[in-house]
Amino acid sequence: MAATPACREAILAIKPYVPGKPIEEVQRELGVKDVIKLASNENPLGPSPEAVQALREASERAYLYPDGNCYYLKDALGDKLGVTAENIIVGNGTDEIIKMLAEAYINPGDEVVVADPTFSEYEFAAQVMGGRAIKVPCRSFRHDLKAMAAAITPRTRLVFICNPNNPTGTIIGQVVLDTFLHEVPPSVLVVLDEAYADYVTAEHYPDSLAYVRGGRANIIVLRTFSKIYGLAGLRVGYGVAVPEIIRDLNRVREPFNVNLLAQAAALAALGDEAHIRKSREINDEGKGYLYEQFAALGLQYVPTESNFIFVDLQRDSRKVFQELLKKGVIVRTGDIFGYDTFLRVTVGTPRQNERFIQALREVLAQA
Ligand SMILES: *Cc1c(COP(=O)(O)O)cnc(C)c1O
Repeated sequence: MAATPACREAILAIKPYVPGKPIEEVQRELGVKDVIKLASNENPLGPSPEAVQALREASERAYLYPDGNCYYLKDALGDKLGVTAENIIVGNGTDEIIKMLAEAYINPGDEVVVADPTFSEYEFAAQVMGGRAIKVPCRSFRHDLKAMAAAITPRTRLVFICNPNNPTGTIIGQVVLDTFLHEVPPSVLVVLDEAYADYVTAEHYPDSLAYVRGGRANIIVLRTFSKIYGLAGLRVGYGVAVPEIIRDLNRVREPFNVNLLAQAAALAALGDEAHIRKSREINDEGKGYLYEQFAALGLQYVPTESNFIFVDLQRDSRKVFQELLKKGVIVRTGDIFGYDTFLRVTVGTPRQNERFIQALREVLAQA
């Protein structure tokens, strides 16, 4: 066979993203019927019933192109967040906005500063554009903002701060962030990824939108409907920044990037505050339970401000992962983040948490 056309050199170093294993795949491959997924930080309560109703109604209109401007969703988000529609860009998941940021700001050879470990999409987006991620090790599982500020060079275009951080669940507080922002040159765009903001309980969590409201020109705050809003399957995320940044991102946006069903469901989910409250409560309860159980098993974990916990099993977590799969429990191994003995587990419903702990107890006893 003839050689295939060569792809761009810049993308050769990219390893395709390995997502959390889908439930159906485990059922198919291992013949386990009752499978729970605690691997992708989805809301274990599912979507808001109001979002499901809105989806049903919107399905009748699925033959129409969506509103490319997401008018109603931006309007409602603006009201909720105290900004205007001109401050908002909506994406096919936050993932798409991360890629748009790279498309808008990264030239070949440019640098983005990221923490290590953190969400892998930041490095991916930089690489797609021929840029490079400069990885700054976390300290005590937290972003080391001093070191990240020191890593900024004339080639730096973006700094990604994942707050709370995935996979560690840690946050950086208002004072530390303020100090950092003082040091960042205006030519560098600071991306605050707050995918898990609604789970945070700590008082010192930054009010990042206040920067945008105050006109700070080199910050964008990212949020998503995939986590506490329970709509990961529909793909809706958004960014909040000054209108000039939003305008530049809109240059690279696909015209109909957020589908009609997703817009309708996100709008309804936004209004269902009871569902959010309940989701937060069940998460706080689950965190407490898992902390106790990890302690009882003699396992160290990183206290979390999100809906997942990074726990040290003190042995190769990939083997434990495989054994857990056989028992119908899907989690995430730490090796993808460079932590071979860690697992990242999503806080589930009380029943799911108990089932995970029971399975983990059995697997650890075998080894
Ligand atoms: C899950 C997650 C997102 C959200 O991604 P979507 O594309 O909106 O589903 C963004 N950032 C981090 C750190 C995440 O963990």
